Amino acid sequence: MSQRPDVRPNRIAVLSVHTSPLAQPGTGDAGGMNVYVLQTAIELARRGTQVEIFTRATSSNDEPLVEAAPGVLVRNVVAGPFEGLDKGDLPTQLCPFAAEVLRTEARHPVGHYDLIHSHYWLSGQVGWLARDRWRVPMVHTAHTLAAVKNAYLAEGDCPEPAVREIGEKQIVAEADRLVANTADEARQLVELYGANPDHIDVALPGADLTRYQPGDKLAARIELGLPVHERIVAFVGRIQPLKAPDVLVRAAAKVLADEAALPQPPERPLRVVIVGGPSGSGLKKPEALIELAAALGISDRVTFLPPQPAHRLVQVYRAADLVAVPSYNESFGLVAIEAQASGTPVLAADVGGLSTAVHDGVSGLLVPGHRTDEWAAALHSLFDDPGRLEAMGRAAVGHAANFSWAHTADALLDSYAAALAQSPIVRPRGGNLHTDSNHARSLALWRRRTG
Ligand code: UDP
Repeated sequence: MSQRPDVRPNRIAVLSVHTSPLAQPGTGDAGGMNVYVLQTAIELARRGTQVEIFTRATSSNDEPLVEAAPGVLVRNVVAGPFEGLDKGDLPTQLCPFAAEVLRTEARHPVGHYDLIHSHYWLSGQVGWLARDRWRVPMVHTAHTLAAVKNAYLAEGDCPEPAVREIGEKQIVAEADRLVANTADEARQLVELYGANPDHIDVALPGADLTRYQPGDKLAARIELGLPVHERIVAFVGRIQPLKAPDVLVRAAAKVLADEAALPQPPERPLRVVIVGGPSGSGLKKPEALIELAAALGISDRVTFLPPQPAHRLVQVYRAADLVAVPSYNESFGLVAIEAQASGTPVLAADVGGLSTAVHDGVSGLLVPGHRTDEWAAALHSLFDDPGRLEAMGRAAVGHAANFSWAHTADALLDSYAAALAQSPIVRPRGGNLHTDSNHARSLALWRRRTG
């Protein structure tokens, strides 16, 4: 039961500098964080906390103020050119962005916002300035960490720049509270970033369980124009090396080759459906995957669909017999929860938040590595046993029910209450310095708490 004291902010400023909650997720820089920011805002507003989300305008058509949902406003801040600014160049625009955030508050009576919640390190840099100015607590969610990302780089992926890690360490030292997506991420914040374990709260992300529900597989396939008599494994997400859709394509090619060599090949051949758009460096374009499928001789067994809005995406999950998430790392992996909530088991890499998002052997399978033979073996083990696959689909719905945005919002309110209780903020001189001694102290505290 929640120990939350009845202290909740009336209105909060949510900072999401580099990507808008109104953008279509599944391509470019828009993904799970966009969904997270919007869905938690909706739930917070339902609980009586108004939310104003500041994001950088990326089109001259962006209205300065948009009501995204009752009690949720999106402020499109002009900071730098609308188009053509690479994510890597965004640190140069943090000053104009911060100036506009401060001006917005200044146009209101004193104390317009009770708390700041920043998402991703770019927003944290702005939040820390606004926090000092407004003298309200700042809560920060990293979503991904450079040190972790760099430890799990896919081949051909660009490492995150050192400046990001420096910026993240500053935010960890400055934020009043940190919200981690999983206990594993909380540990990383302590071990790699020297965070104080007493200032970390874990809020598991969720899925929109009213939208993502089981449904008619046949109807979903017909609606999407997918074959009705084939076995379908789907990949959903941004096409980038970290997400490793190529691991699935290679494994599917092996399964198809193995099955073609059987005296009686299966009547329902395997099809890979890839949903999403290009993002980041490396496997920049779906074209690279198209070329891979051609080189492996399975072009006719792979279908590509562009990024889908949520009402169509649920049909993708229902249409699939299995959803694969082969990522090299995921801070959580919303796709895994959405697929399970839609009644489809998940085959995922045993990394990061996916180990929490999938109940191994019950709602899907976790694969320890990324080798083609182990992924092909996992596909065989599930598709060769349709009864097991069906049972996993049923169990998946039960497992996904543990993850809702309502739960996430309750956990956030707990964190906000703790942050508000910590005020007024008294900051030691040089409080943003990441020193070896405070790192060692944090580690010792963490080990004591976790045994
Ligand atoms: N998504 C979407 N349409 C698509 C592909 C993905 O709306 O075509 C959404 C998906 O529903 C999920 C998010 O993008 O909520 C991806 O989140 P995830 O945590 O899986 O990955 P991230 O993008 O954060 O790395």
